[in-house]
Amino acid sequence: MYLAMMVASIATMMFGSILISNMTIRQILSKEAVEQTESFISFLVASTDALPEFLAGDLPTTRTTSFLANTPRVGTLFRYALHDREGAGRFESDALDFGLATTGALQVPGPSVEQWLASRQPVVEIRFSEAGGEQDVISTVTMPIVIGGNAVGVAVASISQSLTYQHHSRQIRDLSLKIGGMSALVFALPLLSALWQMRMRQKADRKIARMAQYDALTGLLNRFAFTNRIEAMILRKEAFYIHLVDLDRFKQVNDVRGHGIGDLLLQEVGSRILQAAGPKAIVARLGGDEFAVVHARSQAPECDPRSIADAIVAELSRPFLLEGYHIEIGGSVGSAEAPVDGDTLRDILRAADTALYAAKNGGRSQAVMFTAPMDEARLARLALEARLREAVDLGQFELNFQPLFEASTSEICGFEALLRLKDPQGEPIPPLSFIPIAESIGLIEALGDWALFAACREARNWPAHFRVSVNISTIQFRSGALPDRVRTALDEAGLEPHRLCLEITEGTLIKETDQVMQQLRQLREWGVKIALDDFGTGYSSLSYLSSLPLDVLKIDKALVRNLTSPANPSWEITKAIIGLGRALNLTVTVEGVETEAQRVLLLALGCTHMQGFLLGRPAPASEIRTLFPPDGPQGQGGDDGPPRSRNRLAEASAAAPALAWEFQK
Ligand code: C2E
Ligand code: MG
Ligand code: MG
Repeated sequence: MYLAMMVASIATMMFGSILISNMTIRQILSKEAVEQTESFISFLVASTDALPEFLAGDLPTTRTTSFLANTPRVGTLFRYALHDREGAGRFESDALDFGLATTGALQVPGPSVEQWLASRQPVVEIRFSEAGGEQDVISTVTMPIVIGGNAVGVAVASISQSLTYQHHSRQIRDLSLKIGGMSALVFALPLLSALWQMRMRQKADRKIARMAQYDALTGLLNRFAFTNRIEAMILRKEAFYIHLVDLDRFKQVNDVRGHGIGDLLLQEVGSRILQAAGPKAIVARLGGDEFAVVHARSQAPECDPRSIADAIVAELSRPFLLEGYHIEIGGSVGSAEAPVDGDTLRDILRAADTALYAAKNGGRSQAVMFTAPMDEARLARLALEARLREAVDLGQFELNFQPLFEASTSEICGFEALLRLKDPQGEPIPPLSFIPIAESIGLIEALGDWALFAACREARNWPAHFRVSVNISTIQFRSGALPDRVRTALDEAGLEPHRLCLEITEGTLIKETDQVMQQLRQLREWGVKIALDDFGTGYSSLSYLSSLPLDVLKIDKALVRNLTSPANPSWEITKAIIGLGRALNLTVTVEGVETEAQRVLLLALGCTHMQGFLLGRPAPASEIRTLFPPDGPQGQGGDDGPPRSRNRLAEASAAAPALAWEFQK
């Protein structure tokens, strides 16, 4: 189109210059013809006498007759006629006709010849005709004959201007063509450059528009374009299925293998999802390791959302081979149906997100379709989040302390600090519900820090041989500030480091990064004890246990639960773990001891420490404090005599005779 515009502009320019040259030639011809006629009239006036009288109707004088008879033409003026003031003919050179009106009536502009004469304006008529391939040009000039300031008649001269025309037209046309060509060129160059720039800009605009729509890494739609499409579908009241996909261990791949491999993985994931979703799907990368797939039901009526979601999970469960690395991640899928599960963008995304959350919570690498009860779970979670934030702001957490026992003597050797939180109705919220949420919403650092300081402060009130155990979340190792915080907590409480035990989980050790190890070593150097909590439930490799900076192995209550007789498989496992701990010179604590039978069996297996409802339930700090003499200073008071309130704590436990044993010391 732009090219057509350019051709049209150049053609207009050339045509314009030809038009101008034609007008110029006409002007030149007209001017020359008028000049020639003027010269002729001067010549006529000079070569005749009594011309006014002759024109007025008298007979010509001899001189005039001789001139008129012998001068039929002058140069290119090849014919002329003379008229009187009224326009009547007086002489016609071709006919040599004197005094007869053979020339016919004179045609001039205006109402009468007399009026035209007053204007003294010559009239020029140029006629072009073709003759033998040549242009024949004859101009007729009608001009007043003025003598002594008076118009005495009219001369009509016919002049052949073919040669003049040919001469000038060639020159002018050449010139005008050159000028036209030049100006077309001068005009075309900037036009061409403007066109080129416009094309480049359009290309750049198209690229920007593409970038605004597509994810640069995977080439899939981005979040912005994706939500636009869904909104459009919702506006059209189109029914569709949406699947949100979240990779299960992507962060670990990024951390361990680097961002280059992480990027390759995302690209491969993108193409596998595309393949699983089929050609009628809208597939997008919403950011990070989140993807989304949508099927309009009108476009793909045959598509079954469950099999699509399962196909995506299956695709992501297959190992990836990237630059020689064998990578296994897996992905979770949460699906919802519009408009059934939500008829606004916000609601449908929330429904799919809720299903995704359920998929991840339910063990990952699975697909879950949204159901209404899930929404209740989501609302409950939101309420819990709000409660956690409020409790952190208002300092509404409490610590309970559960006694830990020396197995052989059945004496208390310390307490484990356990967080407690109540819901708005005053009912306790289990830590296993709120701690993972506090971790996911970034509250655990503050909460863990508070628990550490509060536990150390509380331990100051206890006899000096009692140790306090504090649970530490993996997240608390991230900033690298944990040893400093522990040091400050110990200093502030005036507690010796060996009286503090930090309980970490296998999750922390799986991320056995230098940073975690360095912090653990630093803490142990100061004398702080490190316990590996919930042992026997995870998937940790036993081989690395020897190299870890550990003091205590805490066998999880799940193993103990089944420990009813030596015939039970848990018996052999527990025995093996206790043996392993011994071999590695670790203290082995068994938690969750609920029955006397379990206690006896564990004792027989050589377990060194025990914790459980049988021996003592978690109790508030105030209750623990009543077990020791009121003014007993740290490290002294609690050691003397039986505690006055041991029965009360024992009562708090459903079956807690062992708590009493300890205080008999
Ligand atoms: P954990 O560290 O393994 O703590 C022991 C859990 O077992 C406590 O549950 C305790 O009440 C329970 N328990 C003790 N004896 C028995 C028994 O005989 N039978 C049964 N069934 N359970 C027993 P709790 O207080 O609900 O805490 C659960 C988990 O929450 C803790 O498990 C720990 O992982 C976490 N947690 C508690 N407080 C904190 C904290 O301050 N920071 C962190 N990061 N986690 C904490
Ligand atoms: Mg613990
Ligand atoms: Mg535990």
